[in-house]
Amino acid sequence: MTKEKHGFEAEVSRLLHMMVHSVYSDREIFLRELISNASDACDKLRYEGLTNNELLKDAGEFAITIRVDPDKKQLVVSDNGIGMNKEDLISHLGTIARSGTSSFVEKMTGDKKKDVNLIGQFGVGFYSVFMVADKVEVLSRKAGEDKAYNWESDGIGEYTISDAKKDSAGTQITLYIKKDAKEFLDVHRLKNIIKTYSDHITLPINLISKNEEKDAEEKEKTEKVNDGTAIWARPKSEITEEQYKEFYHHVAHAFDDPAMTIHYRAEGKIEYTVLMFVPSQQPMDIFDPARKTKVKLYVKRVFITDDCEDLLPGYLRFMRGVVDSEDLPLNISREMLQNNPVMTNIRNAVTKRVLGELEKKAKKDTDGFNDFWNSFGAVLKEGIYEDFSLRDQILKMSRFNSTADKGLTTIEDYLSRAKDDQDKIYYITADNLAAAKRSPQLEGFKAKGIEVLYFCDPVDEFWLQMVPEFEGKKFVSVTRGSADLKDKKDDKEKENTPEIDALIAVLKANLGEAVKDVRPSNRLTDSAVCLVADDNDMDIHMERILKMHNKLDGALSARVLEINPSNPLIVTLAKEAKKDGSVDKLKDVSQILLDQARIMEGDLPDDPVAFASRLSLMMANSFK
Ligand code: ADP
Ligand code: MG
Repeated sequence: MTKEKHGFEAEVSRLLHMMVHSVYSDREIFLRELISNASDACDKLRYEGLTNNELLKDAGEFAITIRVDPDKKQLVVSDNGIGMNKEDLISHLGTIARSGTSSFVEKMTGDKKKDVNLIGQFGVGFYSVFMVADKVEVLSRKAGEDKAYNWESDGIGEYTISDAKKDSAGTQITLYIKKDAKEFLDVHRLKNIIKTYSDHITLPINLISKNEEKDAEEKEKTEKVNDGTAIWARPKSEITEEQYKEFYHHVAHAFDDPAMTIHYRAEGKIEYTVLMFVPSQQPMDIFDPARKTKVKLYVKRVFITDDCEDLLPGYLRFMRGVVDSEDLPLNISREMLQNNPVMTNIRNAVTKRVLGELEKKAKKDTDGFNDFWNSFGAVLKEGIYEDFSLRDQILKMSRFNSTADKGLTTIEDYLSRAKDDQDKIYYITADNLAAAKRSPQLEGFKAKGIEVLYFCDPVDEFWLQMVPEFEGKKFVSVTRGSADLKDKKDDKEKENTPEIDALIAVLKANLGEAVKDVRPSNRLTDSAVCLVADDNDMDIHMERILKMHNKLDGALSARVLEINPSNPLIVTLAKEAKKDGSVDKLKDVSQILLDQARIMEGDLPDDPVAFASRLSLMMANSFK
């Protein structure tokens, strides 16, 4: 095969353009990215090798080698890891596979200065090599395969792939260093970069350079540069914040600062070390339906897998970091990990610890905890319906906005503000805070000074089904059932006026099956109408969520239409309703009232075209 030409994916081209012309001051991060990839590649091969011994046949000791040749202006980074075949090269180094990188590209503005800052925020993986190199060659052979390939590019528009020769599996990346990047051919500079960013990498990182000693026999010398002890195995007191941060970047493939660092060693029947982080930024795929946890499992300092369902519950999937067990066998396979009692033990203990640390944070640092909550509260709340044993604890930690407008509040604080005789916890569910705040159903509660919690995450609807009450007080939706906002003292139901009764009759006659009932409201003070669910019906918002997820067939169920007897429009219509022939005369009005209530719910009118033409007709008539 001669050189096969391929074009980069459009997004990659944009990214590369930016790299090639970069004026980013921390260009040194390219080396961290290459080392991190090499280390991942070795981890992958070691893991594959557990079940397929053949792959390790001629692997030797895993290591990363960096050879610097100032004369040729080359820097060569090699590993004996998993390697890439032709397909891998095309998909991994020609497209944007990684969510972090694609969000980087999305955020790119075209404004060079701003975009350059983004590099620091996101890191851009492999492509960062083009900040320091004119040309890059990736020679790779995948473990278990015979063929090797050479990928080559100057980072502009296209790359080529050709057949090549390589004796063993792994990847060798040659950078032809740019004129203005000569500093990266300097041994001291390189050592410094490796120490700064990659000291914690557990594989040896060997730097090969020209032997400067006079009369030396060997032309080259090799030095192991990194410390290589796993950072989590070192005592806390010896680790700097900066080192924790660098490790977080490496282990999480993230570039924000960790919001929390949890580092401890569990001793006793089962021994393990935990070094985990809570990110400060929400990872892109946090709401991915697969709900994968990303914490890496190590056994006695050896990487086992980052795809281990049993290590943490799905509702802690925002956590990053490692758990290193002393008790599992090194050759443990995926099958053996499932339902393993050691894993179950670790999972339960680590989960409790994380929740405990979050509680501590909530006590010590309200703002910090609220930031955490805004990023990951919706994920953590999945635990309320999923984890029976920790349900109460998670619910207690949960924060919500409310009509009190005091920012995030706990349910306990909500109850402490409630009047003594309030035996319920009132809430409204909605798609977002703005929609919740607009809800007409809140009017009566606000007027009476009764605080209502806003439940704005889809997950709220789900845990509410499992958790009917909190400390003996029932959760009650303000959009369901009849609102008990009457004053306790005047026991007597207020009688409807004959006009209101007439209007109700007219509306029922005109709306028929489209409503379940029509009744006067005591939850409205301003708006004319609103929709509510009957006591035994599904909450309106819940029904909408289920429909959105195709979990529910058919039309939305009929609702109760509540009318506000003190609203001027309703007063006027009620007078009209008493007159002869009012059912016919108020036909359009009835329909518009219902559609109006639907719109306030965030739904469409039943028939938007009919709605518009009725409204047009009425507007035209109003000028007659
Ligand atoms: P990330 O490491 O976050 O996935 P990169 O841009 O750094 O993103 O790398 C893209 C992909 O290219 C990697 O996920 C990996 O599959 C592949 N890759 C990069 N370097 C190597 C290597 N040295 N050995 C094997 N695969 C590699
Ligand atoms: Mg990478």
